[in-house]
Amino acid sequence: MLVLGGTHPNEPSGFITAVALIECCQPTVGTLYVIPRANNSAFTCTDPQEAAPMNFTIDTQNGTRWFRFGSRATNPVDQWPDSEVYVHASSGQQLSGSETRNLNRAYPGRADGNLTEKIAYGITTLIQQEDIEITVDLHEASPEYTTVNAIVAHEDALELASIALWDVEDYMAITVEKSPTNLHGLTHRELGDYTDTLALLMETANASQGRLHGKIDSELVVSGKDKYYARAAKYGAVTVPYDETGISLSERCARHISCLVQFAEQYAFVGDGTSISLGSMPSYKDILTNGIGYYLADPQ
Ligand SMILES: [Zn+2]
Repeated sequence: MLVLGGTHPNEPSGFITAVALIECCQPTVGTLYVIPRANNSAFTCTDPQEAAPMNFTIDTQNGTRWFRFGSRATNPVDQWPDSEVYVHASSGQQLSGSETRNLNRAYPGRADGNLTEKIAYGITTLIQQEDIEITVDLHEASPEYTTVNAIVAHEDALELASIALWDVEDYMAITVEKSPTNLHGLTHRELGDYTDTLALLMETANASQGRLHGKIDSELVVSGKDKYYARAAKYGAVTVPYDETGISLSERCARHISCLVQFAEQYAFVGDGTSISLGSMPSYKDILTNGIGYYLADPQ
């Protein structure tokens, strides 16, 4: 199984879930591949005019660690200029020029393309060469977005996503959505079409995204508490349950980790008979109780 964190470095639950897997997961059956900073270049900048912080902090059992908060897109220092219109190479699909640097519009990628396409090509090639059976791309979306608290599955992975729901629905609200066949460049479409992997993507609700939040700082990124989003929720303007208690980074990571554990466990029922086990991982409740920092390594 391959887990991609940091496709969009302004969506920290994917990145921190990937770091937590590296630091506390000991798979007992199968191989777990983790890429925590899929678009490493996008970790080196923030989105223009968003006043986003360069980093955020998480308390571990033995001190505070800081992590980079980045941009949705490849740093323009590494790839510039954008064309007026971004033409997706293998489909001819046309999108806004700003999507040229969006890793999740670049798949399956090109060996001789721009940097973002080369990163996508590298990940696609890794999946092919290592025969990776499940790929999960971890994301976040703003609380008002329609695809949030969701698993998006390529049609080949729909069965696995649906079986995973049997367990996780007992303690979280989550839906499964089928990957649209006419939206190109995304992991849940192209990795499923161009490789044999079961391609899945997950979205949690991040109050530091979207257009309704107040000041973005480390506190907002980690606590997920924003009074403007709480107010917007009262007007029915958000698509997930949201109140003054916010949706913490720990809760968002707990969602990702619980679903990953289930994808691994349930794979035996849908695959070719092989199985994957991530070993002893903290439960959803454990992560909520202890905080995600409890499962991260100490600073230094
Ligand atoms: Zn994203």
